Amino acid sequence: MSYIKTEDRGDIRIITLDNPPVNSLSYALSGELVPVVEAASADPKIKAVIFIGAGGQFSAGADINDFGTKPTAQTKTIRDVIAAVEKSEKTFVAAIEKMAFGGGFELALASDYRVALVDAKIGLPEIKIGLLPGAGGTQRLPRLIGAQDALDIMLKGRNVKMDEAKEKGIVDEVVTSNLLEAAIELANKGGKRRVSHKKPWLGKGLVDKALPFVVSQAHKLVPPEDNGGFAAHKLIDAVEASMELPFEFGLAREGRLFMELALSAPSAALRHVFFAERELSKIPDLPAAKPLDVKKAGVIGAGTMGTGIAITFAQAGIPVHVIDSNEAAVDRAKQTVMGMFMYQVQKGRMTQEEAWKLGQAVQFTDDYNELADADVVVEAVFENMDVKKEVFTKLDTIVKPEGILASNTSTLDIDEMASATKRPDKVIGLHFFVPANIMPLLEIVRGKDTSPETIATAFKLAKTLRKTAVLARNAFGFIGNRMIFDYSAAAGALAEEGVSPARIDAVAKKFGFPMGPFAMSDLSGVDVGWRILKERPDMAKSRSNVLNRLVEMNRLGQKTGAGYFTYDKNVGKGREPIPDPVVEALFAEEGKKAGIKPREVSDSEILERLLYALINRGAYLLEEGVAIRPGDIDIVYIYGYGFPPHRGGPMWYADEVGLKNVYDKVVAFGWQPAPLLKKLAESNGKFADLVTAKSPKGQGELTHA
Ligand code: NAD
Repeated sequence: MSYIKTEDRGDIRIITLDNPPVNSLSYALSGELVPVVEAASADPKIKAVIFIGAGGQFSAGADINDFGTKPTAQTKTIRDVIAAVEKSEKTFVAAIEKMAFGGGFELALASDYRVALVDAKIGLPEIKIGLLPGAGGTQRLPRLIGAQDALDIMLKGRNVKMDEAKEKGIVDEVVTSNLLEAAIELANKGGKRRVSHKKPWLGKGLVDKALPFVVSQAHKLVPPEDNGGFAAHKLIDAVEASMELPFEFGLAREGRLFMELALSAPSAALRHVFFAERELSKIPDLPAAKPLDVKKAGVIGAGTMGTGIAITFAQAGIPVHVIDSNEAAVDRAKQTVMGMFMYQVQKGRMTQEEAWKLGQAVQFTDDYNELADADVVVEAVFENMDVKKEVFTKLDTIVKPEGILASNTSTLDIDEMASATKRPDKVIGLHFFVPANIMPLLEIVRGKDTSPETIATAFKLAKTLRKTAVLARNAFGFIGNRMIFDYSAAAGALAEEGVSPARIDAVAKKFGFPMGPFAMSDLSGVDVGWRILKERPDMAKSRSNVLNRLVEMNRLGQKTGAGYFTYDKNVGKGREPIPDPVVEALFAEEGKKAGIKPREVSDSEILERLLYALINRGAYLLEEGVAIRPGDIDIVYIYGYGFPPHRGGPMWYADEVGLKNVYDKVVAFGWQPAPLLKKLAESNGKFADLVTAKSPKGQGELTHA
């Protein structure tokens, strides 16, 4: 046997799950485990069985590599293992070290006793990939801790720590050491304490009669079924079944609901996102390189971005010096940094002492010499090439030769900045998103001379900073901002045809974006886009002149109380966009000047024009090699721009719509279709086909198959 080890201690059989790196309960492991459980059950010398994991951990659950494999009639799954446990007359104990997630936790739930090491975590995260716990979790957890608490854990897919687990009765015992000994003690107690035999209950202080209320509340709290809540509503149905049906019938209901989800579009999209994220660091043409350790960092510019980036470094334990010669900016930044850490104290996430220490990790100075021994310096000054080049030249003379010089530019040419230094191999783009300490995305931009070592260091740094990193090639706007540029242009064109910004935003929100294109522009600052276009007059032609008019009127967005919308301190804390007829009149005026006739536009056309603008540009970026894989673009849009994850990202969504349909519309809108889009549309292809024939999982070289 390769995935399981057994050992008898007297009349107790210890079954060790041994499937590195996370003891996943693969089909292969389950195939070995079922007969082992059956043999123990049939063995008169054996009184009890202990499940434990090898390598200091219990199990992370199902094996994601099995997702692409169709089970045959012979395939055994974790459900078969659990069925064998359920049938057995012996006592089962789960000894949990480090983690028991998904199917791993469901195996523990099917056992008679659960004992865990104090720093272990348990959870049922299936909802995150649009599924529900399908090996009895939705039936056993409510019986164990009550439906209300079980719903909270499963709907959030959150990790539960041992203090809570003990308090709620999820585990019987928590120990600080000698886990196996503690498990043996429980095994010796014997007896059958199957969760399946317990009577279902709603939760502490709740009478069974309250079930309809609890269920309807739960349905109200999750997103709508057709917009992000598909799995959540099914999960609630499964838990409701646990309260209403005998155990076996509830289990059957869970199985049916699970299958429905497994075959659903939202789950397919979420699984795509999950896999796409794992592909991100596979760079086809990058020779192996050893990343450098980043122990000390520098940031130039104490503005919105610089401050957020400095907080991000400090939180990851990397001390950082921030340079800005503008005193007012430094004062504001200091307040933001301290305010941020004190907020964490208020929320009970850290102690005063920890906050003070983190605050000390961010030092403000105007002396560049402090950066001499920095391993990486991120420049976040104004979006202006001359200013940036000056900063790079200066950094090049001061920072140690092996130090990496990075730019947080939104759109500017990394190679041109590199040309201002004698170390172009160590120059790279690190494009954070606002607010930098919260947004999970980091676009890493490689210049033509950026070395593999510098790229490898950037990826490692991203991990330390807890960011999801996507590699882009140097080009105007890289991936995200290049695409958002076309998206905003499409929104502006619609407004000039007489569609109100409020309606355009409402259509985007209905699709699942947290906000529409105009509210987004108001949030990041209308002048940000305007400044970018000042640097690139060639790109400005495709944009509505309303942008310039708003800047002339000092309508810069939320920060000035008005932009595409107006804002009122007393409405939604000054963040709620209020439609403004003045702006609609501006669009009408500019539209007229441009010879555009107002016309009726349907909601579906509004959506198509917004999304197909993203998709068509995405196809160009793939073709030009700015983005490596369609999945990389999807991740950028989901993590950086709020594209609804259950729709898989723009490129995944395009495949769902059908590329022929997208292409026909792109042509009908009068846009220049990307040659790649045309080619795929004509051959009935998909973006998802753009992975190598060498590896079904997309490793290795990318081919435009
Ligand atoms: P900001 O205007 O808030 O801050 C810029 C800061 O740089 C100011 O405090 C200014 O005093 C300082 N500065 C200017 N020249 C300097 C110099 N030579 N030396 C030291 N400090 C100098 O701007 P921001 O929004 O933080 O943007 C900074 C960079 O980040 C830009 O390149 C921008 O494109 C990029 N960016 C912005 C966003 C965003 O949404 N705001 C998002 C991603 C990237």
